[in-house]
Amino acid sequence: MLNDRKVYDSEHAIFREGVRRFFNAEMMRYRDEWDRAGTSPRDFWRKCGEAGFLCPQVPEEYGGAGADFRYNCIVAEETFYGGPAINLGVHSDIVTPYLLHYGTPDQKRRWLPGMVSGEIVTAIAMTEPGTGSDLANIKTSARLESDQYVIDGQKTFISNGQNADLILVVAKTDPAARAKGVSLIFVESSREGFARGQNLDKMGQHAADTSELFFDNVCVPVENRIGEENQGFKYLMQELPQERLIIAVTAAAAAQHAFDITLPYVRERQAFGRAIADFQNTRFKLAEMATELKVGWAFLDQCIATHLQGELSSSEASMAKLWLTEMLGRVVDQCVQLHGGYGYVNEYGICKAYVDARAHRIYGGTSEIMKELISRSL
Ligand SMILES: Cc1cc2nc3c(=O)[nH]c(=O)nc-3n(C[C@H](O)[C@H](O)[C@H](O)COP(=O)(O)OP(=O)(O)OC[C@H]3O[C@@H](n4cnc5c(N)ncnc54)[C@H](O)[C@@H]3O)c2cc1C
Repeated sequence: MLNDRKVYDSEHAIFREGVRRFFNAEMMRYRDEWDRAGTSPRDFWRKCGEAGFLCPQVPEEYGGAGADFRYNCIVAEETFYGGPAINLGVHSDIVTPYLLHYGTPDQKRRWLPGMVSGEIVTAIAMTEPGTGSDLANIKTSARLESDQYVIDGQKTFISNGQNADLILVVAKTDPAARAKGVSLIFVESSREGFARGQNLDKMGQHAADTSELFFDNVCVPVENRIGEENQGFKYLMQELPQERLIIAVTAAAAAQHAFDITLPYVRERQAFGRAIADFQNTRFKLAEMATELKVGWAFLDQCIATHLQGELSSSEASMAKLWLTEMLGRVVDQCVQLHGGYGYVNEYGICKAYVDARAHRIYGGTSEIMKELISRSL
């Protein structure tokens, strides 16, 4: 189902072939090594940049391809179709739009070319030890002192935290206000007072480093702020639909992969003198999963098409994230079951898929928060 979708045209198919070939040569076979290291090597990021697979939406004048969002989706699908779940998407699909949509020409010139080439790796730091879902309740502060912000606070669960050179920090510029006191400020990791904490030892997605970050009187020029002061929450609300949509894309690809590796397994594996696939229970489970996948792709492609028109609403993006990530959970769990004991062995792809999949229902806003957002639009 990754191929042959109406939302893509022949140019996208050629691009997909290139991404697939590149990932097969440069990523898939290093999966275990990167999982053990708890991160992906910087050299791989530079190779992705050279190949033109980072930040596809960046205009040519800033070194990018000026491509549409479907190119982001292709890279995301190919990464999560059995790959090591690395954080390319955080960089290309989640951080880049803030610069594209709210950055000044000077900020774009400073950072976008390096982001496209892979010389600059980015992260977005919203979550804190004390708050995740309740984003307006963050405590990290950015105090304006003459022409610079002084940033103090702590973040956690930050994807690319170990690798990032540039972090989009969500901070309070008016600590007394909730959502109306939030600003978005880029912090270079070279700044004094910035420190990376430990790379969190997660259940899955091991090659996708996820870290605590510390800000102790970190000074950055006021020119590092994105958009207007105290308007950060508004920008987040405008950009979160693309973040949620791309997570839905990765969930669909991961679910498809789980199904695609389970089908040959059940056809091959024998019990009671016949293939597991010949039991009615197995056939029904496969039929249910194939149907869920088909339904999921149809809704997802509709959302991608709507997003290309600039019309994807927050509630539709939340529905896509909610449904596709919950579907991934159902499918991958069933696929482990059909593998029997081997589904519980790390060496098997389905076991890795199972632990990797759990994060999808949590990051980018939990399923419960998606339901809150959807219900508000009804
Ligand atoms: C692998 C991974 C990568 C991540 N990457 C990033 C990143 O790059 N940048 C970043 O900023 N964050 C990142 N996160 C953090 C992630 O976005 C948060 O973990 C998530 O938003 C939930 O916040 P929390 O962990 O504080 O949970 P909490 O907010 O404490 O929620 C705990 C439980 O309470 C429920 N709950 C909370 N509020 C409500 C409500 N109003 N109604 C019903 N139920 C509710 C939640 O759904 C959840 O089940 C990442 C997390 C993970 C696991």
